[in-house]
Amino acid sequence: MKARTPRIRRSRLGATLAEGIVAMFIGTLFLSVLPAFYQTSLKVWQRETSELQVTQTADFLLKRMEEDVRNARSVYVSSSGLEVVLTLPLQAYDSELGREVNVLADGWLVNGDQVEYYFVLNTATSSTEGAIYRRVVDPDGAADTAVVIADHVQPTINPLDTSTTAPLPVFSFDSVHRTLTVTITAAQPKPSSGTFAPTHMLLKCARDSGQLYRVPTDENPDGELRCSACGEQLETSGEIVTHQTQFLVRNQ
Ligand SMILES: [Zn+2]
Repeated sequence: MKARTPRIRRSRLGATLAEGIVAMFIGTLFLSVLPAFYQTSLKVWQRETSELQVTQTADFLLKRMEEDVRNARSVYVSSSGLEVVLTLPLQAYDSELGREVNVLADGWLVNGDQVEYYFVLNTATSSTEGAIYRRVVDPDGAADTAVVIADHVQPTINPLDTSTTAPLPVFSFDSVHRTLTVTITAAQPKPSSGTFAPTHMLLKCARDSGQLYRVPTDENPDGELRCSACGEQLETSGEIVTHQTQFLVRNQ
Protein backbone atom coordinates (compact mmCIF):
# COMPACT_ATOMS: atom_id res chain seq x y z
CA MET A 1 0.00 0.00 0.00
CA LYS A 2 1.30 3.38 -0.98
CA ALA A 3 1.25 6.05 1.67
CA ARG A 4 0.14 9.44 0.48
CA THR A 5 2.86 11.97 0.78
CA PRO A 6 1.48 14.89 2.83
CA ARG A 7 1.70 18.19 1.06
CA ILE A 8 4.27 20.52 2.48
CA ARG A 9 2.32 23.40 3.92
CA ARG A 10 3.55 26.80 3.03
CA SER A 11 3.54 27.93 6.61
CA ARG A 12 6.62 30.04 6.02
CA LEU A 13 4.58 32.51 3.97
CA GLY A 14 2.88 33.93 7.05
CA ALA A 15 6.16 34.53 8.80
CA THR A 16 7.62 36.22 5.74
CA LEU A 17 4.68 38.62 5.47
CA ALA A 18 4.94 39.50 9.16
CA GLU A 19 8.63 40.15 8.73
CA GLY A 20 7.86 42.25 5.68
CA ILE A 21 5.56 44.48 7.70
CA VAL A 22 8.22 44.84 10.38
CA ALA A 23 10.72 45.66 7.65
CA MET A 24 8.66 48.75 6.76
CA PHE A 25 9.59 50.37 10.03
CA ILE A 26 12.86 51.56 8.59
CA GLY A 27 15.25 53.10 11.02
CA THR A 28 13.42 51.92 14.11
CA LEU A 29 15.23 53.29 17.12
CA PHE A 30 15.68 51.37 20.31
CA LEU A 31 16.56 53.35 23.36
CA SER A 32 17.79 52.00 26.61
CA VAL A 33 19.16 53.68 29.66
CA LEU A 34 21.09 51.03 31.55
CA PRO A 35 22.60 47.66 30.61
CA ALA A 36 19.75 45.88 32.39
CA PHE A 37 17.23 47.74 30.26
CA TYR A 38 19.20 47.06 27.10
CA GLN A 39 18.61 43.33 27.57
CA THR A 40 14.85 43.96 27.62
CA SER A 41 14.79 46.01 24.45
CA LEU A 42 16.81 43.39 22.57
CA LYS A 43 14.40 40.65 23.63
CA VAL A 44 11.43 42.57 22.27
CA TRP A 45 13.14 42.95 18.94
CA GLN A 46 14.16 39.30 18.75
CA ARG A 47 10.60 38.16 19.28
CA GLU A 48 9.47 40.14 16.27
CA THR A 49 12.25 39.29 13.85
CA SER A 50 14.08 36.37 15.34
CA GLU A 51 15.93 35.45 12.18
CA LEU A 52 17.48 38.77 11.34
CA GLN A 53 21.23 38.80 11.13
CA VAL A 54 21.29 42.48 11.93
CA THR A 55 20.08 41.79 15.46
CA GLN A 56 22.96 39.42 15.95
CA THR A 57 25.36 42.06 14.65
CA ALA A 58 24.26 44.60 17.26
CA ASP A 59 23.83 42.01 20.01
CA PHE A 60 27.35 40.65 19.55
CA LEU A 61 28.94 44.09 19.56
CA LEU A 62 27.03 45.28 22.63
CA LYS A 63 27.71 42.11 24.63
CA ARG A 64 31.40 42.34 23.76
CA MET A 65 31.53 46.00 24.78
CA GLU A 66 29.53 45.57 27.98
CA GLU A 67 32.32 43.69 29.75
CA ASP A 68 35.01 46.12 28.59
CA VAL A 69 32.94 49.14 29.67
CA ARG A 70 32.13 47.58 33.05
CA ASN A 71 35.85 47.24 33.78
CA ALA A 72 36.96 50.51 32.19
CA ARG A 73 38.80 53.12 34.27
CA SER A 74 38.48 55.78 31.61
CA VAL A 75 36.79 56.39 28.27
CA TYR A 76 38.04 58.40 25.31
CA VAL A 77 35.87 59.03 22.22
CA SER A 78 37.45 60.52 19.06
CA SER A 79 36.00 63.77 17.67
CA SER A 80 34.66 61.84 14.64
CA GLY A 81 32.66 59.62 16.99
CA LEU A 82 33.95 56.60 15.09
CA GLU A 83 36.41 55.39 17.73
CA VAL A 84 36.34 54.71 21.47
CA VAL A 85 39.27 53.76 23.69
CA LEU A 86 38.58 52.06 27.02
CA THR A 87 41.43 51.91 29.53
CA LEU A 88 41.29 48.83 31.75
CA PRO A 89 43.03 48.45 35.13
CA LEU A 90 46.42 46.75 35.11
CA GLN A 91 46.14 43.12 36.19
CA ALA A 92 48.66 40.50 37.27
CA TYR A 93 48.40 36.80 38.07
CA ASP A 94 48.02 36.05 41.78
CA SER A 95 49.37 32.55 42.45
CA GLU A 96 47.62 32.28 45.84
CA LEU A 97 44.19 33.13 44.40
CA GLY A 98 44.95 31.38 41.11
CA ARG A 99 43.56 34.20 38.95
CA GLU A 100 44.23 37.63 37.51
CA VAL A 101 43.75 40.45 40.03
CA ASN A 102 43.95 44.24 39.78
CA VAL A 103 47.37 45.68 40.57
CA LEU A 104 47.34 48.43 43.20
CA ALA A 105 49.94 51.17 43.71
CA ASP A 106 49.54 52.92 47.09
CA GLY A 107 45.98 51.59 47.14
CA TRP A 108 45.11 52.95 43.70
CA LEU A 109 44.36 51.14 40.42
CA VAL A 110 46.95 51.47 37.66
CA ASN A 111 46.27 51.80 33.90
CA GLY A 112 46.59 48.52 32.00
CA ASP A 113 45.38 47.39 28.56
CA GLN A 114 43.63 49.80 26.25
CA VAL A 115 40.72 48.35 24.31
CA GLU A 116 39.89 50.17 21.08
CA TYR A 117 36.67 49.91 19.09
CA TYR A 118 36.79 51.70 15.74
CA PHE A 119 34.92 51.93 12.45
CA VAL A 120 36.77 51.25 9.17
CA LEU A 121 35.11 52.13 5.85
CA ASN A 122 34.95 49.32 3.29
CA THR A 123 36.77 51.19 0.50
CA ALA A 124 36.70 48.21 -1.89
CA THR A 125 32.97 48.67 -2.53
CA SER A 126 32.93 52.50 -2.69
CA SER A 127 29.90 52.45 -0.42
CA THR A 128 29.21 53.99 2.97
CA GLU A 129 29.34 50.70 4.83
CA GLY A 130 32.15 49.27 6.89
CA ALA A 131 33.08 47.23 9.94
CA ILE A 132 33.73 47.92 13.61
CA TYR A 133 36.97 46.38 14.88
CA ARG A 134 38.16 45.62 18.40
CA ARG A 135 41.87 45.77 19.23
CA VAL A 136 43.75 45.43 22.52
CA VAL A 137 46.94 47.43 23.10
CA ASP A 138 48.97 46.42 26.15
CA PRO A 139 50.71 48.98 28.44
CA ASP A 140 53.98 48.53 26.46
CA GLY A 141 52.18 49.63 23.28
CA ALA A 142 52.11 46.16 21.69
CA ALA A 143 48.84 45.63 19.83
CA ASP A 144 46.94 42.39 19.30
CA THR A 145 45.44 41.62 15.90
CA ALA A 146 42.25 43.62 15.31
CA VAL A 147 39.08 41.53 15.16
CA VAL A 148 35.85 42.42 13.34
CA ILE A 149 33.07 42.82 15.90
CA ALA A 150 30.27 44.19 13.68
CA ASP A 151 29.98 44.18 9.89
CA HIS A 152 27.75 46.04 7.36
CA VAL A 153 27.59 49.07 9.65
CA GLN A 154 26.39 52.36 8.10
CA PRO A 155 27.30 55.38 10.29
CA THR A 156 26.26 57.96 7.65
CA ILE A 157 22.63 56.86 7.86
CA ASN A 158 22.42 56.81 11.65
CA PRO A 159 19.26 58.61 12.85
CA LEU A 160 19.72 62.39 13.03
CA ASP A 161 20.54 64.26 16.19
CA THR A 162 17.44 66.50 16.26
CA SER A 163 19.40 69.47 17.67
CA THR A 164 22.23 69.45 15.09
CA THR A 165 20.47 67.48 12.25
CA ALA A 166 23.74 65.57 11.76
CA PRO A 167 23.71 61.75 11.96
CA LEU A 168 24.25 60.53 15.54
CA PRO A 169 27.86 59.45 16.13
CA VAL A 170 28.54 55.73 16.54
CA PHE A 171 30.18 56.45 19.91
CA SER A 172 29.56 59.38 22.24
CA PHE A 173 30.53 59.88 25.86
CA ASP A 174 28.72 62.10 28.34
CA SER A 175 31.32 62.79 31.04
CA VAL A 176 28.75 64.38 33.39
CA HIS A 177 26.41 61.41 33.47
CA ARG A 178 29.25 58.99 32.69
CA THR A 179 27.31 57.31 29.92
CA LEU A 180 28.76 55.84 26.74
CA THR A 181 26.14 55.80 23.96
CA VAL A 182 26.59 53.41 21.03
CA THR A 183 24.41 53.85 17.93
CA ILE A 184 24.67 51.15 15.27
CA THR A 185 22.80 51.16 11.97
CA ALA A 186 23.19 47.98 9.97
CA ALA A 187 21.57 46.58 6.85
CA GLN A 188 20.05 43.22 6.15
CA PRO A 189 18.71 41.72 2.89
CA LYS A 190 14.92 41.37 2.85
CA PRO A 191 13.61 37.91 3.80
CA SER A 192 12.04 37.56 0.33
CA SER A 193 15.53 37.21 -1.11
CA GLY A 194 15.21 33.59 0.00
CA THR A 195 18.33 33.41 2.15
CA PHE A 196 19.33 34.63 5.57
CA ALA A 197 23.00 34.39 4.72
CA PRO A 198 24.80 37.65 5.47
CA THR A 199 25.39 38.87 1.92
CA HIS A 200 27.07 42.14 1.06
CA MET A 201 24.62 45.02 1.01
CA LEU A 202 24.96 48.00 -1.25
CA LEU A 203 22.35 50.43 -0.01
CA LYS A 204 21.77 52.62 -3.02
CA CYS A 205 18.87 54.04 -5.00
CA ALA A 206 17.49 51.42 -7.40
CA ARG A 207 16.90 54.11 -10.08
CA ASP A 208 20.26 55.85 -10.24
CA SER A 209 22.50 54.18 -7.62
CA GLY A 210 22.51 57.40 -5.56
CA GLN A 211 23.79 57.18 -1.98
CA LEU A 212 21.37 57.28 0.92
CA TYR A 213 21.17 60.10 3.43
CA ARG A 214 18.66 61.26 6.01
CA VAL A 215 16.35 64.27 5.77
CA PRO A 216 14.48 65.53 8.84
CA THR A 217 10.70 65.82 8.32
CA ASP A 218 7.79 66.80 10.60
CA GLU A 219 6.79 63.15 10.87
CA ASN A 220 10.36 61.88 11.24
CA PRO A 221 12.54 64.47 13.05
CA ASP A 222 15.32 61.85 13.22
CA GLY A 223 15.34 61.55 9.45
CA GLU A 224 13.74 59.87 6.46
CA LEU A 225 15.97 57.96 4.05
CA ARG A 226 16.30 59.72 0.70
CA CYS A 227 18.45 59.30 -2.41
CA SER A 228 21.13 61.99 -2.73
CA ALA A 229 20.83 61.97 -6.56
CA CYS A 230 17.08 62.01 -7.34
CA GLY A 231 15.88 63.08 -3.88
CA GLU A 232 13.19 60.39 -3.81
CA GLN A 233 12.26 58.60 -0.63
CA LEU A 234 13.86 55.20 -0.77
CA GLU A 235 12.49 51.74 -1.21
CA THR A 236 15.76 50.13 -0.24
CA SER A 237 16.97 46.74 -1.38
CA GLY A 238 17.46 45.80 2.25
CA GLU A 239 16.18 46.33 5.72
CA ILE A 240 17.85 48.97 7.85
CA VAL A 241 17.80 48.75 11.63
CA THR A 242 19.32 51.01 14.28
CA HIS A 243 20.21 49.88 17.78
CA GLN A 244 21.11 52.41 20.41
CA THR A 245 22.43 51.52 23.84
CA GLN A 246 23.80 53.49 26.76
CA PHE A 247 26.38 52.02 29.06
CA LEU A 248 27.06 53.44 32.48
CA VAL A 249 30.77 53.83 33.18
CA ARG A 250 31.06 53.15 36.90
CA ASN A 251 34.75 53.24 37.66
CA GLN A 252 35.79 56.58 36.26
ZN1 LIG B 1 17.77 58.07 -6.79
